[in-house]
Amino acid sequence: MSPKLDSFRRIVVKIGSSLLVDQKGLKHEWLDALGADLAALAAGRRDLLVVSSGAIALGRRVLDLPRGPLRLEESQAAAAIGQIALARAWSETLQRHGFTAGQILLTLSDTEERRRYLNARSTIMTLLRLGAIPIINENDTVATNEIRYGDNDRLAARVATMLGADLLVLLSDIDGLYSAPPATNPDARFLPLVERITPEIEAMAGSAGSELSRGGMLTKIEAGKIATAAGTTMLIAHGHEHHPLRRVAEGARCTWFLPETQPVTAWKKWISGSVETRGAVTVDDGAVKALRAGKSLLPAGVRGVRGRFQRGDTVSILGPGGEEIGRGLVAYDSADAERIAGRKSAEIATILGYAGRAEMIHRDDMALRGE
Ligand code: GLU
Repeated sequence: MSPKLDSFRRIVVKIGSSLLVDQKGLKHEWLDALGADLAALAAGRRDLLVVSSGAIALGRRVLDLPRGPLRLEESQAAAAIGQIALARAWSETLQRHGFTAGQILLTLSDTEERRRYLNARSTIMTLLRLGAIPIINENDTVATNEIRYGDNDRLAARVATMLGADLLVLLSDIDGLYSAPPATNPDARFLPLVERITPEIEAMAGSAGSELSRGGMLTKIEAGKIATAAGTTMLIAHGHEHHPLRRVAEGARCTWFLPETQPVTAWKKWISGSVETRGAVTVDDGAVKALRAGKSLLPAGVRGVRGRFQRGDTVSILGPGGEEIGRGLVAYDSADAERIAGRKSAEIATILGYAGRAEMIHRDDMALRGE
């Protein structure tokens, strides 16, 4: 049995360039229909995030660059031009459907370096909390060959795992996975459900891709590996027709990739499974109780700080008797943590001279033993 679109709570939708941009430029009507689909999902108290390609494709049209592969500096320049139009189109479209868009441009290190990862994550979380829809793309204007994703399929998968999304939708110019490239092989069989990405499944992904999009089935399977390993379900669906998400909900053909674990546990597993902790915070009885009840760790509940760590490092959370009750990503470096230990969150700005987080370790960034 395939899952149902409306059973997911936090959904990342990735849109390929070839859906948004054609020879004439941006496909406004298509985008507007997609905006209606997104608004319908978001209205059901779901968190929606969009990873939108199209900056380079749009920019190269404006610059009238020749067909074929671009040099790096040309694609950077094209993205600089196209991203403005892309962001504007998203902003206007979502506004028409009653939602606010927020633009996020990421580089590879924003998701691979933990401190930057934490920072990007917190900005995106804040957008979601404020009811906005993040519109995300790679920051192509500064990304170089060595330090870039290069395809938004994997970027979208990383974003989905970063935010603990339970579903990643890749809207593409193909309706899903076939046992062989369908364009060249008439015996190609369609696969509606992939329970696990095995070497056999990987072998089915040819290297096909249309002229405008960089990611073929290969990068989609790579994305699937990132997503499903962290507990995110993935869906590949055809996006060319209007209302692609509504069509999926109504039963259009698509391929589902089932997750290997549940989303929360995957994220928590990542934290609790950290190879080494950089230090520890000892908390009082009241804090132990609060943590077990699902609360964040506030500085007020911290009795002691041990080790030298930086913001974003994994630390142990020790109970009053010194036993490890869990681990978490700490929001302050050890020097600042010591200064605010035992103090009220409202005092942080006065003590440190800057307005830091109210929590020493946020609930979302914490894994308690036995959870
Ligand atoms: N970031 C690129 C763009 O916006 C697209 C990458 C891709 O097609 O996957 O043009």
